[in-house]
Amino acid sequence: MDRPGIIRKSAAELRVPPNLADYAATRAAFSWQAVRAELAGLPGGGLNIAFEAVERHARGPLRDKTAFRFLGAQAKRDIGYGELSRLTNRFANVLKSLGIGKGERLFLLSGRVPELYVTVLGSFKNGTVVSPLFSAFGPEPIATRIKLGEGSVLVTTELLYERKVEKIRAELPTLRHVLLVGEDGQATNIPGTLDFGTLMAQASDVFDIVPTDSEDLSLLHFTSGTTGTPKGAMHVHGAVATHYATGRYALDLHAEDIFWCTADPGWVTGTSYGIIAPLLHGVTSIVDEAEFDAERWYRILDEEKVSVWYTAPTAIRMLMKAGAEIARKRSYPNLRFVASVGEPLNPEAVWWGKEVLGLPIHDNWWQTETGGIMIANTPAFDIKPGSMGRPLPGIEAAIVKKDAEGKVSPVDTADTEGELALKAGWPSMLRGYLHNEERYKKCFAGDWYLTGDLARRDADGWFWFVGRTDDVIKSAGHLIGPFEVESALMEHPAVAEAGVIGKPDAVVGEVVKAFVSLKQGFEAGEALRLELLGHARKRLGAAVAPKEIAFLPSLPRTRSGKIMRRLLKARELGLPEGDTSTLEAG
Ligand code: AMP
Repeated sequence: MDRPGIIRKSAAELRVPPNLADYAATRAAFSWQAVRAELAGLPGGGLNIAFEAVERHARGPLRDKTAFRFLGAQAKRDIGYGELSRLTNRFANVLKSLGIGKGERLFLLSGRVPELYVTVLGSFKNGTVVSPLFSAFGPEPIATRIKLGEGSVLVTTELLYERKVEKIRAELPTLRHVLLVGEDGQATNIPGTLDFGTLMAQASDVFDIVPTDSEDLSLLHFTSGTTGTPKGAMHVHGAVATHYATGRYALDLHAEDIFWCTADPGWVTGTSYGIIAPLLHGVTSIVDEAEFDAERWYRILDEEKVSVWYTAPTAIRMLMKAGAEIARKRSYPNLRFVASVGEPLNPEAVWWGKEVLGLPIHDNWWQTETGGIMIANTPAFDIKPGSMGRPLPGIEAAIVKKDAEGKVSPVDTADTEGELALKAGWPSMLRGYLHNEERYKKCFAGDWYLTGDLARRDADGWFWFVGRTDDVIKSAGHLIGPFEVESALMEHPAVAEAGVIGKPDAVVGEVVKAFVSLKQGFEAGEALRLELLGHARKRLGAAVAPKEIAFLPSLPRTRSGKIMRRLLKARELGLPEGDTSTLEAG
């Protein structure tokens, strides 16, 4: 099949008039103040995400409309906007009764069950800051984040508590309460914990939202860097303006849409777009409680009549691998827009969408720190497969370079590679890294927020992802900090040093590969390799642990003692080793 470098769109292909029809005119007329004016605001003044997302609709004509449809293992459960309001009021009352106040931090460790969604939105109502953890994390990443975030409350499930939290509980002195969601709705009875269902049943379903304003914290999302502990990106209630505008322009949400965001709320996409943005637009969201399964996913797209689908490159590549025949057993007449985020989306995947689903996949770009989509391919515009698209209205993006004096300025010439930067000031921009002001300051140069990604802009204004400026690993769309993995490996008595890299993989983008050297008296071999893999998996969990481990007599280090991951990677891939002038003499 002929695959030109551009997919041209025609007005006839569009099922509904696109929200972003005229890119230049919308950008020129756009202001964040105007978006803010479309939001209701709290009745007594101020701004709260839960009021915009839930209360506004629960008090109006959408009160009986389904907000979420949960597809559980056994049954489906629909929760309407009115019911969501009452449930989240109950949870806000639960927090209040436990003495949890505004600004305190609640951690969440759970699969995609209704209680998770109620907890997030109920916490917003109480002014409590939510920090979601990915349920496939092991005990170490969980403990590190709760300690850093000084969590007061943890909401988790009975099973996850027993498997992952019980053994680290003593390390978490700030944690005053642990609320457990029982299996199959059964009450739990584990010492030192409270039963979520019982507390909810006792609480009133009437609650006055605690006054918050646009600069009050709403979410704390941990993200990984190259060195040191994870960074807690702090987000505010005012971010809701970005969620609203990007729901409109990047995801093209219309009131009648059935929307499915496949991201887990343990990561930023799953909260900004799996919870907040669709509610703001009063649409119905599908939540699949199960893990990936190609046949199931096609069935959901078909039977649930999904019209807008937001997913990720790894998932698309897994569907591609499963073969087009499964896809063709079903039909998707309601599907009108498919978007993807989190990793580079290969042109083949964009075309696969067109050939198999009848719609190309629209890549978009953003990161934990930006809080919302910044650069996107939207329904009305031509797609250049392989490109992330163009900056949304309200967003100024540039490729920047540092001069000899360290001054950062935008590069005007097209097709020049450099760091991707965004003009600071959009509403969902992070407000800091918790307890790490220094690292936060490093994100900025003058007016520019520096993304840590390398990209280029073509002559037409489309942005193309090139790579990262650092060593973080993207595996199945999840950012993994090599330092966290290295530290866990170093805890094993046999390991002298560890260096961790992302090794390219055709399906998940990168897999975590570790190189270790051993202490005197230990011998490299299959048994030890398996033991180390098991050790890392037990501590870090499946989402973070290395998939491959190789032994080296010693690891390359800089003269200042840092492990040269870049060199490990170059050697692994058989690439030129680049500048090794700082390499310690071997
Ligand atoms: P996270 O903060 O975990 O959401 O990860 C953000 C990082 O994922 C970005 O800085 C990029 O390195 C990568 N990323 C996100 N979206 C894309 C995309 N569309 N294309 C390429 N890389 C992406």
